[in-house]
Amino acid sequence: MKYNRTYNFSAGPAMMPEPVLEEIAAEMLNYRGSGMCVMEMSHRSKVFQQIRDEAEADLRKLMGIPDNYKVLFVQGGGTVQFAMVAMNLMKNGLACYVETGAWSKKAIAEAKKYGEVKIVASSADKNFSYIPDCSNLDIPENADYVYICENETINGTTYFNLPDTKGKVLVSDQSSMFLSRPCDVSKYGLIWAGVQKNVGPAGMAVVIIREDLLQEDLPKFVPTYMSYKTHADNDSLYNTPNCWAIYCCGKVFKYLLAGGGLEAMNARNEEKAKILYDFLDSSKLFTGAVVKEDRSLMNVPFVTPSKEQDADVVAASKAAGFDNLKGHKSVGGLRASIYNAMPKEGVEALVEFLRKYEAEHS
Ligand SMILES: *Cc1c(COP(=O)(O)O)cnc(C)c1O
Repeated sequence: MKYNRTYNFSAGPAMMPEPVLEEIAAEMLNYRGSGMCVMEMSHRSKVFQQIRDEAEADLRKLMGIPDNYKVLFVQGGGTVQFAMVAMNLMKNGLACYVETGAWSKKAIAEAKKYGEVKIVASSADKNFSYIPDCSNLDIPENADYVYICENETINGTTYFNLPDTKGKVLVSDQSSMFLSRPCDVSKYGLIWAGVQKNVGPAGMAVVIIREDLLQEDLPKFVPTYMSYKTHADNDSLYNTPNCWAIYCCGKVFKYLLAGGGLEAMNARNEEKAKILYDFLDSSKLFTGAVVKEDRSLMNVPFVTPSKEQDADVVAASKAAGFDNLKGHKSVGGLRASIYNAMPKEGVEALVEFLRKYEAEHS
C-alpha cells in the first residue's frame, strides 16, 4: 500500500476513499487559486458558496432527491438529530418508534423529552438480532411520524423492506448506511445521517426533509438553530456551518457519482459483505450475531465462544495490522464495519486473518 495505511474497521469516524484524501491534501494549502485552505475561508465567500452548492447538487443527483425536498447540512452530528426530529415534527405530541437497538433507543429516550413515544415494534426480546415485522403496525390516527434506525450500527441489522406507516410520515436515521445503496427518497418524510460513518469527517448531519414538514410555528423553547426551517430558509448558511465537512462530503459525492452511483456502490457492498458472511457461516469458531435476512452490509458483528477469546482475536488482529475490530462496549464481541470506502482487499485480508486464527486455535 502506497501510504502504509491500515485497514480501519471502525464504525465511525471511518475510512474515506483514498483518492478523495489525496485531492484534499493537494488542495490543502491553496484551494484552486483562492490563496487559502477551505478551513480558512469565509462561509459567505463566492468560492465557498460554490463548494456548498455543488455538494448539494451532487447529492441530489446521486440520490435522485425530488424537488420538493430540502437538503440541509446541520452541525452537531447524529445525536442532535434525535432532538431536532422530535422538536420539529411532534405537532400532535405523539410519535411511533421502532426499537431495533442502541441508536433507536437513544432516539426514543430523546423524543420522550418532547412528547409521547409509542414503541410500535421491538426486537429487544432477542438482543436486537433481527428487524421486527413492520407490515401491520398499530399506528394511532394522531401519530405525527414513524421513526426507524434503518441500519443499527452497533447491532448490525438493516431493513430490506421499509415499514408500512399507514400513511404517516416515515423518518429514518440512515447514518451508517447513507449512500451505501439506492434509496427512494419519496418514500420518506425525513432522512438524516451523521456523515462520519459513510461519507466524511465527524460533526455534521445531512438532513433531507420534505418541504411541507418545515414548520413555521414551533414551540417557543425550540432554539433558532434547532428549527429545520432556519436551515432551509438560509441554504444551511444561517450561521457559520461546518465548512470543512461540507467540502469533504462534496468530494465524496463526486467520487461516488464518478464510480457509477449508488447501484454500483450497492453491488460492491454486497460483494464485500458476502465474503465476510460466507466465512462466518462456514466457520466453527466465529458466529455472526444477526439473523441472515436482516444482516447489515455495513456493520458485521460476530463472536467467538468466549469473551476471553474475543479479546484475544482483537489483540491478534491489531498485531496483524488491522484496527478497530472490537465490538461496541454495550454488546462486546467483534465488529467489522465495512463501509463504502473499505476496499474489497481489506475484507479479503480480514477473512484470511480470521481463517488462519481459527486454524491455529482449533
Ligand atoms: C453514530 C450514529 C449516531 C450518532 O452520531 P454522532 O455524530 O456520534 O452523534 C446516530 N445514529 C446512528 C445509526 C449512528 O451510527
